[in-house]
Amino acid sequence: MLLIFAAVMISVSAMVFTALDRVGHYANQLDEERSREAVTGALQTFRHQIRATLHDYAAWDDAAGHIYQQRDIDWIERNFGEMSLNSDLFDVVIVLDPVGNSLSAHSDGVPIKGLDQYVTPGVLALFEPLKQLPEDALPEVTGFVETVKGIAAVGIGVIRKTSGERMGKPSGNHYVVLMRHLAGETIERLSRAYVLPGLHLVPPSSDLSHRVAILGPNDQPIGGLAWVPRSPGDASLAQVRPLVWCAVAMIAIYMLLLFVSGNEALSRMSADEAAAVKLSLTDRLSGLPNRTGLFAGMADLINLAQRDGKDVALLYLDLDGFKEVNDAYGHATGDLLIRSVSAGLRVLVGDEPVLARLGGDEFAVAFIGYDVQKNAVELAERVLDFLGEPITIGERIAVIGCSIGLAFSRRGLVQGEELIRRADMAMYRSKEEGRGRWTLYDPVMDDEREERNLLELDLRAALDRQEVTVAYQPVVDACSLRVTAVEALARWTRAGHGPVSPEVFIPVAESTGLIDMLGLHVLRTACRTLVAWPDLALSVNVSPGQFRDPAFVGHVADVLTQTGIHASRLTLELTETYFIQNPSRARKTLDLLRQTGVKIALDDFGSGFSSVGYLRQFRFDRMKLDKSLVDSICDDSRAIEMLRATVALAQSLEMPVTAEGVETEGQAVALQKAGCDLLQGFLFGKAVPAEEIDQLRERGPLIRLPISA
Ligand code: C2E
Ligand code: CA
Ligand code: CA
Repeated sequence: MLLIFAAVMISVSAMVFTALDRVGHYANQLDEERSREAVTGALQTFRHQIRATLHDYAAWDDAAGHIYQQRDIDWIERNFGEMSLNSDLFDVVIVLDPVGNSLSAHSDGVPIKGLDQYVTPGVLALFEPLKQLPEDALPEVTGFVETVKGIAAVGIGVIRKTSGERMGKPSGNHYVVLMRHLAGETIERLSRAYVLPGLHLVPPSSDLSHRVAILGPNDQPIGGLAWVPRSPGDASLAQVRPLVWCAVAMIAIYMLLLFVSGNEALSRMSADEAAAVKLSLTDRLSGLPNRTGLFAGMADLINLAQRDGKDVALLYLDLDGFKEVNDAYGHATGDLLIRSVSAGLRVLVGDEPVLARLGGDEFAVAFIGYDVQKNAVELAERVLDFLGEPITIGERIAVIGCSIGLAFSRRGLVQGEELIRRADMAMYRSKEEGRGRWTLYDPVMDDEREERNLLELDLRAALDRQEVTVAYQPVVDACSLRVTAVEALARWTRAGHGPVSPEVFIPVAESTGLIDMLGLHVLRTACRTLVAWPDLALSVNVSPGQFRDPAFVGHVADVLTQTGIHASRLTLELTETYFIQNPSRARKTLDLLRQTGVKIALDDFGSGFSSVGYLRQFRFDRMKLDKSLVDSICDDSRAIEMLRATVALAQSLEMPVTAEGVETEGQAVALQKAGCDLLQGFLFGKAVPAEEIDQLRERGPLIRLPISA
């Protein structure tokens, strides 16, 4: 850039100065021509003047009389010779008789001693043309000659009457010779009159170019008039040059400034661009690279791995309890949590690995090395330990935990996008298997994903063909042990595969949105069936996905109207997940449902978060104790106390309690004593087709319990 600038400046300067030089040269040339013309003109005029003077002196009646008739030398001396003193017109005057003897010869008023000093061969040469002039021609000649005094304009004329009449025969002609020398003062005068500075005589041999040759009678150069060229071009150039240099310098400075500021603007622009690129690669909240930033970082790592034969490890981690914190305490707290987790992870993983936040509560760590698996697993363990500790968020303390997926790109052979997909899949496996753990990616997972996709397709088809059926599990009164209710449970026998557990297909239905159709199908089928069992109540499970559907309440009301089932006989079972995730929306839906008259039970209480706060807040119509809680009571007396306390709590909130998963008589007795009013479990019966419930209804107490347990 600077080079281009310099080249432009140099060529611009060169052009400007060449142009100036040309103008200067041209001006010089013009002046030279003018001077030459002036000098030539001056010489001509000089010669013409001598001719005019000559005419006055040669054609003069008095002179003719005094010379030809009286031969009055005295008169001649006075009127010719003395006139040469201080005259502007001539400085030498010689009067010659027909044979060339002088009657009078003066230079500057002084008689001349040696006549040949003035009557030189050049002067004599002029006599020839004069003598050969025809009779009627003016008998006068002029020219330039060289004398002892220098170069002079000379005029020679036949002395005659003013009328031109000759006094003697042609052979008796007398002559007057006038000379005016080009000397000192004369030349100075010419110099001034013609504005030709430094005008001076030069010898004929001079090689000065500023001169005009003075030719003798034979056209031989006898000398020259030279002048000092004024070179107006050079003078103007000399005057203009500093200005032009100034202008060029100013332009150069201006352009340099432009260049510098342009450069600055350019670098500012590229700095802005770099900042924008950096911003686009950075997550605002955490200051860590974002997904795009991770891709960029991974691309670098993978290139390095390919070059150096190293491996790239990727840890994909998802916080387990983030949603809960976000929902419970608000987004500001959630943001704080993300910030402190980010900062903690940064310290934990060190400076070298790429640590990125992929949005929400997902992070990734990528690093490179030889055989990275051991390091990756160690790092995963450390991250689990770190996030397993309670974290302070502002004034709150929360335990969040995380699930991690690990994947590797051996020698950089797996590209970034695929690596992320694999680690993500492994992370999901960690979630599915109970969170708070790490899982290595295994190609089997892809098969399972594929299998899941096939399962989804089949489930969709099964729902279309009404192949999903409903089984009913008896719920007995804790005192009478008679069937008082049933819980409707979905059943699916997949064509070509056999029965599929709801624990497999319900999550698939939930994640694909099929749950709305499935849930409604179960509800409608169960309500229709219930028409035949006027003495029984009905429980139906509802997934969070269904509950979120604004049309859900309407669907429930429709089914009730269509089947004629009284709303009070229907209990909808919900797990706490949705209430924790979306308390305000959950409350609205809950209120709407209550208006239809149906009851709401909190399912699986004691299996998860189980916050007493939620129980108070939402006022469910029933609590269902989770099987895990029921299982624990056989061996542990403290568990029984826990159970009692839980039931007491529910009762204090006016919530009757159902115990589920009751498999032994011991459990049944304990639960009965603890205050559960309904019992459900294999002890009384598994979920069975509707026909089998018909028989159970008639049986009275399903079992007999020992009086005391
Ligand atoms: P859940 O609502 O907790 O249903 C009770 C589950 O525990 C049923 O499993 C039932 O067969 C099982 N169970 C009952 N008593 C015992 C016992 O004494 N011992 C043992 N080991 N298990 C017992 P199932 O039918 O496999 O259903 C699993 C889960 O699938 C259900 O758990 C429920 O969450 C979901 N589910 C089933 N049908 C539906 C449905 O129609 N809609 C929705 N949204 N979820 C459903
Ligand atoms: Ca249930
Ligand atoms: Ca349950």
